[in-house]
Amino acid sequence: MPEGDVVHRSALRLGRALDGRVLTRSDFRVPRHSTADLTGRAVLETVSRGKHLLTRVEGGLTVHTHLRMEGRWQISPAGRGLPGGDVVRLVLANAEWQAAGVRLGMVDLVSTEEEGRLVGHLGPDLLGEDWDEAEAVRRLARRPETSIGVALLDQRNLAGIGTIYRAETLFLAGVSPWRPVGTVEDLGAIVSIARRLLDANKERPSRTTTGDLRPGRSTWVYGRAGRPCLRCGRRISHGEMGAQPQERLIVWCRHCQPEEPTG
Ligand SMILES: [Zn+2]
Repeated sequence: MPEGDVVHRSALRLGRALDGRVLTRSDFRVPRHSTADLTGRAVLETVSRGKHLLTRVEGGLTVHTHLRMEGRWQISPAGRGLPGGDVVRLVLANAEWQAAGVRLGMVDLVSTEEEGRLVGHLGPDLLGEDWDEAEAVRRLARRPETSIGVALLDQRNLAGIGTIYRAETLFLAGVSPWRPVGTVEDLGAIVSIARRLLDANKERPSRTTTGDLRPGRSTWVYGRAGRPCLRCGRRISHGEMGAQPQERLIVWCRHCQPEEPTG
């Protein structure tokens, strides 16, 4: 599942291929916009907002895409073959490069003025230039009874965290994902760990939260359920968190992340 770092990197890659160049092809393979045609317009920029991508085009239009569970952007020299099997949802190409949106979870075309309607609900973007830690903490604290694990995934509080960074951030903070937000002493510390992890990985193709890229050593807990904790050696727990059908995998160490507040 793509998280904020991957989305941020996708925006950079799209920018390098498309910014400032005139589209020679636009192919929306979604029913709602199947007749849309952006050829002849220059692409201005692509920005990420949390897990959303906004590609702004001349004439006040924005292509809004979201990778959801398994989407990705494949960028290749213009004229190359596209992935087959009906997986491409959108093609944007210029004379030099083509960008194919594969298995995108969302493809929309709106006026640039309307972007706020799409992303205005999002909390501060962990990788945004306008990142605001105090505002993220304020939003998290609004629902003190919610567990911190659920609150960190709620993009209305802060934008960019998925299941991997949730698990890794809470491990590094030494906080159980099941603790109610209201009992967590230092929300600012948790938020700043999340930002540090995302920032460290935003331009790195292989993600690591431990600083170690070796297989099985690149994360503290995520992907390591049932194996020994790298810190204390006890077995790492896993479970599901959140209300159906939104429940998502959570992995944590019961010893390093106690459920009761310490100290
Ligand atoms: Zn441990």
